[in-house]
Amino acid sequence: SAGPDDMPQEIWDKVKNHPCYSEEAHHHYARMHVAVAPACNIQCNYCNRKYDCSNESRPGVVSQKLTPDQAVRKVVAVASEIPQMTVLGIAGPGDALANPAKTFETFRMLQEQAPDIKLCLSTNGLALPDYVDEICKYNVDHVTITINMVDPAVGEKIYPWIFWEHRRVRGYEAAKILHERQMLGLEMLTARGVLTKINSVLIPGVNDEHLYEVNREVKKRGAFLHNIMPLISEPEHGTYFGLSGQRGPSATELKAVQDACMGGANLMRHCRQCRADAVGLLGEDRSEEFTLDKLDALD
Ligand code: SF4
Ligand code: SF4
Repeated sequence: SAGPDDMPQEIWDKVKNHPCYSEEAHHHYARMHVAVAPACNIQCNYCNRKYDCSNESRPGVVSQKLTPDQAVRKVVAVASEIPQMTVLGIAGPGDALANPAKTFETFRMLQEQAPDIKLCLSTNGLALPDYVDEICKYNVDHVTITINMVDPAVGEKIYPWIFWEHRRVRGYEAAKILHERQMLGLEMLTARGVLTKINSVLIPGVNDEHLYEVNREVKKRGAFLHNIMPLISEPEHGTYFGLSGQRGPSATELKAVQDACMGGANLMRHCRQCRADAVGLLGEDRSEEFTLDKLDALD
């Protein structure tokens, strides 16, 4: 995997303690998420709104929603218990940037109270260009954008609607706006030196053959990492595309797409699709130790 010899020093400094950006760091450093962002501004066909945003999380889990105040208390408490906790991410349960007041209030307070913790957020990208200044103002130096297509004809099979300029937009037009906003947001972040990770959900029969093109387009715009994740089709999660038959990819199909994208943007293969209130090393979940009722005991 990529190491200090493969990139400029200032980039390595941003990557080396971030478990999601460095395969090496993911064995040693922990991240946590706080679920302060309940609303979403788009609809993905694979999303079930009862659960966390499936763009960054394993679908089918419900995280404990927190106010910014509660979130900051929790981060400070966890940081004193888990010294390897280097990164705080906001990844739902909806979209971090569809809840800008809560997301940035949390970041603002954290910068004051725990300035050593790196800040990270994940978004579907629709609102991203509007918040690049604020992202930079709070020194958020890692942003994940979920990009499942670069062609609105593919996109309209994934996104039934977006909420845009006070109205609901559907079909091809919705996918076209989302695509343009994602590309613009990515370009703006690259221009400002913010490291980006692109998540793509591999949906067999919908975007499997298209992800190579996604990889090429995001690399061209400076994406640091590309994480191709399988659609997780769990019966309790409900239906996809209004059909109960949409399956996720097999391990072989996933690997084939990942291999086809080798040589493009760096591929991340250690993603564990964590929940919106995850705490701990990737693949480890200590969130139950830090629920609100237990925090009082830690104070
Ligand atoms: Fe669901 Fe996340 Fe898509 Fe919003 S962006 S619809 S929360 S999967
Ligand atoms: Fe950041 Fe995503 Fe990792 Fe969470 S899972 S810390 S939002 S890169």
